[in-house]
Amino acid sequence: MQEIPLTADTFRRRIFEWFDVHGRKTLPWQFDKTPYRIWVSEIMLQQTQVATVIPYYQRFMERFPDVAALARAPQDEVLHLWTGLGYYARARNLHKAAQVVMEEHGGEFPMDSVEALSALPGIGRSTAGAIISISTGRRAPILDGNVKRVLTRLHAVEGWPGRPVVERELWALAERYTPEERLADYTQAMMDLGATLCTRSKPACLLCPFEDVCVAHARSEETRFPESKPRKALPERATLMLVLRDPLGRIFLQQRPASGLWGGLWSLPQFDDEQALRAWLDQRFPHAKRETDGEAFTHTFSHFRLQITPSPARLDEMPSEIGETGALWYDAKAPASVGLAAPVKTLLNRDVS
Ligand code: SF4
Repeated sequence: MQEIPLTADTFRRRIFEWFDVHGRKTLPWQFDKTPYRIWVSEIMLQQTQVATVIPYYQRFMERFPDVAALARAPQDEVLHLWTGLGYYARARNLHKAAQVVMEEHGGEFPMDSVEALSALPGIGRSTAGAIISISTGRRAPILDGNVKRVLTRLHAVEGWPGRPVVERELWALAERYTPEERLADYTQAMMDLGATLCTRSKPACLLCPFEDVCVAHARSEETRFPESKPRKALPERATLMLVLRDPLGRIFLQQRPASGLWGGLWSLPQFDDEQALRAWLDQRFPHAKRETDGEAFTHTFSHFRLQITPSPARLDEMPSEIGETGALWYDAKAPASVGLAAPVKTLLNRDVS
């Protein structure tokens, strides 16, 4: 993390000046800032843009104007009003939390502390901070996705923010800058700056009040921050795929079982090793002539990587027609309308024999 030549006071002065001119002040949840209304807006705004949220928020508030109405509603109705917003666990938690507020807190949100509020389902430390600061004006820092983006760029904070050590660093920065007054405006200002200027892929740095001190901007590395989650190395597997051609150039395909990898699609006969491939050929096509293996390539699935080595072979005589279902000679020039597994398409597009 790099320090910037700006005191916390100057940081606040600049962000308030920017907010007073450019901040959003007429969003539906900025009127009548009750904990309930702020809470629903904060949950809807997680992973979702303001413009998308507004009509959902308005419909939700019409149907469930307070926490009691939400707690009473059947879950189906809550989910119905959420349809299209995605991440449905948010709606289920919202409903559950409303019931907890009614049953355990007498219908009032536990606003004494961030800890008490974040004990409710679906409310994390940052959401609790936003609800408290916006609806009561009490000091409570936030660190949502927008704020993380601004702070990681401003200070060039290295590392994925999901790592506890990086997260602690970011919370310390959030604490440093959070003022003692105008808390609702400050929280909104930080969210607005991240959402409207310091955007993910094209930050408008020239309009930013921190353009002259932002470390990521000085290095022209804005989009390198925040760093993304490191990819886990996927396990590797290897397979041989037999590319058997008949004298017409047609390729022998088999249909995959209905479930599992490439379920129901047509693919090349596949073997764990050379021995298994040879045994299969000896049994089915003993006159097939083997050719040199083609160049291996990798197909990536969500949970593993498959290294595929194409193993070409050819028949000099026309084979007898295949008398079984689940197998066919595939003619790339007059293709049968069957679904092909991805690597088969790859192989058909390159000359392997
Ligand atoms: S200067 Fe650019 S990268 Fe830095 S905080 Fe402002 S908008 Fe974000």
